[in-house]
Amino acid sequence: MRIILLGPPGAGKGTQSERIVERFGVPQLSTGVMLRAAVAAGTPVGLEAKAIMESGGLVPDAVVVGIVADRVEEPDCRSGFILDGFPRTVAQAEALDAMLAEKDIALDTVIEFVVDETALEGRIAKRAEETAAKGQPVRKDDTPEVFRSRFEAYVKQTAPLSHYYEGTSHLTRIDGMKPIDEVTHTLVSILEPYRQTVES
Ligand code: AMP
Repeated sequence: MRIILLGPPGAGKGTQSERIVERFGVPQLSTGVMLRAAVAAGTPVGLEAKAIMESGGLVPDAVVVGIVADRVEEPDCRSGFILDGFPRTVAQAEALDAMLAEKDIALDTVIEFVVDETALEGRIAKRAEETAAKGQPVRKDDTPEVFRSRFEAYVKQTAPLSHYYEGTSHLTRIDGMKPIDEVTHTLVSILEPYRQTVES
């Protein structure tokens, strides 16, 4: 199973990815998670990404493409992967296509979460509150100001991918405003046919 989850920040991609991981046993490849780990570890990639992420902009394509190219080589990706937060630009999508073509593998499907834009800021605020209540560190970019920049980056640079994948892959749009369990149910029914796709 090789899938992409597409949608704006706060759409629920991360939450649903975790559930797909549990259900189908394929790893979640979240570039946001990988970049935050790089920032925390103070690696050269982390040093380059830190300020950009804190301002809500996008890290350069070459950096994230490099991270994903390395990650898909890991043994656990042989059975597939869920791409969450990548690609985020048309250039990244093209790089991914080239990466997959070189490995002679194909994407199964792209799922776009359609959400009410006005609800997103509230969701992000709720996520920050819940994380703090659990005593966990709150993401520095989960503030109303940075959210606006992240959303702007989404509209300008990521939203065109919807059109890109309409032309190249099978794109399915799902209603991301439904309750979490209902979204999971819809996702599972879309993904079930791809369960058997395991690279030998
Ligand atoms: P996320 O966890 O997906 O919301 O990503 C958090 C931040 O990491 C984004 O706001 C970007 O600054 C950076 N980031 C994550 N994925 C990418 C990507 N594919 N391309 C560029 N920047 C990214």
